[in-house]
Amino acid sequence: MKYVVAVRALCEFTAKHGDLDLRFTPSPSAQEGMAGHALVASRRGESYQSEVSLEGDYQALTVRGRADGYDPEQNQLEEVKTYRGDLHAMADNRRHLHWAQLKIYGWLLCADRNLPDINLTLVYFDVASAQETPLTEHFTAAALKDYFEAQCERFLAWATQELAHRQARDAALTALEFPHPAFRPGQRELAEAVYKTAQAGTCLMAQAPTGIGKTIGTVFPLLKAVPKKQLDKLFFLAAKTPGRRLALDALDRIKGSTQALPLRVLELVARDKACEHPGKACHGDACPLAKGFYDRLPQARSAAVKHAAAQGPLDKAALRELALAHHVCPYYLSQELVTWSDVVVGDYNYYFDTSALLHGQAQGNQWRVSVLVDEAHNLVERARKMYSATLSQAQLQQVHAGAPRAVRGALERLNRSLQELHQAQDEPYQVHPELPAPFLKTLGQALTQVTDFLLANPTRMDGELQDFYFEALHFSRMAEAFGEHSLFDVTLQADTGSSTFGQALGQPLAVLNIRNVVPAPFLAPRFAAAQSAALFSATLSPQNYYADTLGLPVGTVWTEVESPFLAEQLRVSVVSDVSTRFQHRGDSLSPIVDLMARQYEGQPGNYLAFLSSYDYLQQLVALFRQRYPQIPVWEQTRGMEETARDAFLARFTPGSQGIGFAVLGGSFAEGIDLPGDRLIGAFIATLGLPQINPVNEQIRERMGANFGAAQSYDYTYLYPGLQKVVQAAGRVIRTTSDRGVVYLIDDRFTRPEIQSLLPGWWKVTRLRARRKEPAAAL
Ligand code: SF4
Repeated sequence: MKYVVAVRALCEFTAKHGDLDLRFTPSPSAQEGMAGHALVASRRGESYQSEVSLEGDYQALTVRGRADGYDPEQNQLEEVKTYRGDLHAMADNRRHLHWAQLKIYGWLLCADRNLPDINLTLVYFDVASAQETPLTEHFTAAALKDYFEAQCERFLAWATQELAHRQARDAALTALEFPHPAFRPGQRELAEAVYKTAQAGTCLMAQAPTGIGKTIGTVFPLLKAVPKKQLDKLFFLAAKTPGRRLALDALDRIKGSTQALPLRVLELVARDKACEHPGKACHGDACPLAKGFYDRLPQARSAAVKHAAAQGPLDKAALRELALAHHVCPYYLSQELVTWSDVVVGDYNYYFDTSALLHGQAQGNQWRVSVLVDEAHNLVERARKMYSATLSQAQLQQVHAGAPRAVRGALERLNRSLQELHQAQDEPYQVHPELPAPFLKTLGQALTQVTDFLLANPTRMDGELQDFYFEALHFSRMAEAFGEHSLFDVTLQADTGSSTFGQALGQPLAVLNIRNVVPAPFLAPRFAAAQSAALFSATLSPQNYYADTLGLPVGTVWTEVESPFLAEQLRVSVVSDVSTRFQHRGDSLSPIVDLMARQYEGQPGNYLAFLSSYDYLQQLVALFRQRYPQIPVWEQTRGMEETARDAFLARFTPGSQGIGFAVLGGSFAEGIDLPGDRLIGAFIATLGLPQINPVNEQIRERMGANFGAAQSYDYTYLYPGLQKVVQAAGRVIRTTSDRGVVYLIDDRFTRPEIQSLLPGWWKVTRLRARRKEPAAAL
């Protein structure tokens, strides 16, 4: 059996040395990179061959990759590297790496075409100026062969143990048994659906209730599919930290269930959570863990893969311990380990964001990967954020106040351009069909100047300027990708008085927003790049809403796993004589607090109440405390810190009693697990509908333009709202022995189109709060 390695991966393994050096290096975006490569190719003659696939063997190794271009007339092979800023500032070890790749391609081409010698040209392409800097050297085939073999030789021992690992891993996965004596109800159905779609290489949407063991029910079958489908890696992508923890625990349990499963599991953690020297820059002159990083990496890497295969997952704690033992940065060590891991557990953004690490590496190395998306209903909102961008004039002015002289002129021109942009705007909020070209041109020029300044001053810690720069860069990139999937709007805000541009106080300041409404065009290529993908959640319906907005491919399989819970476990009452519409909120307070108190007094225990806003919450809490001071209540507050959130949840203990008031869609409305009598009921006094305002109305229009007018209201308001309601209600019943009550408080819950969006296993009855009907018994 051969070990296949990409040219890039081979060189990164053998030719990287010295310090980690991430001094300010704004690498081009993927789009800029592709455009740069295309532009260079278009400048070449007719005989030029682009994207030349090459492959060659050395003992147990197969080395493959795609060289950027070959011109047979000049016998010249080119490797194009796009960059920004000053080429001379590029670290030596990066340039060394580029030459290493080109020399490997050079030998593969010589061998393929029987060439005695060849010209190798490294083309550095500046994405800002579109200028090329070619560096050419002539090599004999014999010299390149020696170089190729020397690199392969250095990789061979590692490749041999990687091959052995892969064989042992696949053999163990083939023999792997489910880690529990039996599947839970519904769990087998889910597992079968994941396995079948992985085998078929398609996408799966699985709506599966809480409590059936979704994590192990998806991870296990996908692991079983690995050997047959010859998958290189699995990516488990979660919206939040608890989701990652569940996956790591499930994988640990699977590993622990059998004697020999050498599965390497890696957790990716955000830089600010993994960094050992916050406030320092990531290069050898500033951070001791960056100094000599690549020199110490081989030992750290060997120790890491041994640990991962023999012990538990390389989670945050294990990685930290290992990295510090080898004196390397834990954050960048984790990134290096992606290549050598079998399962990577990380946040959505590692696969779906604009320049996502996992997606980029999978593409670059041609890995066969399968993707699991946990709590996938969150992906719509999260992806919208990834592909939205904001540019604030107030922030620009604040940055200008402390900016170095070299960039002040550029920031002033940008400010003038913003002034011109909003001078013609009478309304405080306006949507524009296009982004104005003159503004974008000025923005591009400002970015170039700030880039040049930051590159010339790589060690300068200019936090505000850099933050603004990265936001402006993201804005510029999203502007390039602007289309029907997004809105461009300008909001005028009152001047805060921080201006240093000399404009009259009281003049409004602009906030420019590119708001992604439909992330489908950005996500569809990510799903297409995976061998298979399974998205699962307790609330993933209606199917068409998620499939349309997330860009799932045609042929995506839908499965709905029956709930293991019985209707008798949960008494769901729709309160039909209360309206929580904004104009009726004053009237709603009294019947709602009386209803809650009646339920509590009839059945004392722990309850959660979910409201649409903090204002509404505070009004209800105030009235409740006044009328029922004997009942303990506690409330969620705006911007609650983690310790306060923990304290809120800590009050839900077995045997405790009281009502916690929270906001629907907030941190207590999903992802919390309060089984048994830690939570016996929920009062949901809202349909969760987003507020009707100019922005949401524009989103509705855009939804209509994308998916038809008939869907526009439901896609903007109804489905996102009801999804939150069902998630919140889902906090009550967590196990087959739980019992509880849910009150859906609003007359609109009686409508058939709303009831059709509630879980099928619920038995819903009507109730009138004002008639003081008795409390529901558990
Ligand atoms: S420890 Fe922190 S500062 Fe140092 S290289 Fe790692 S991330 Fe950068």
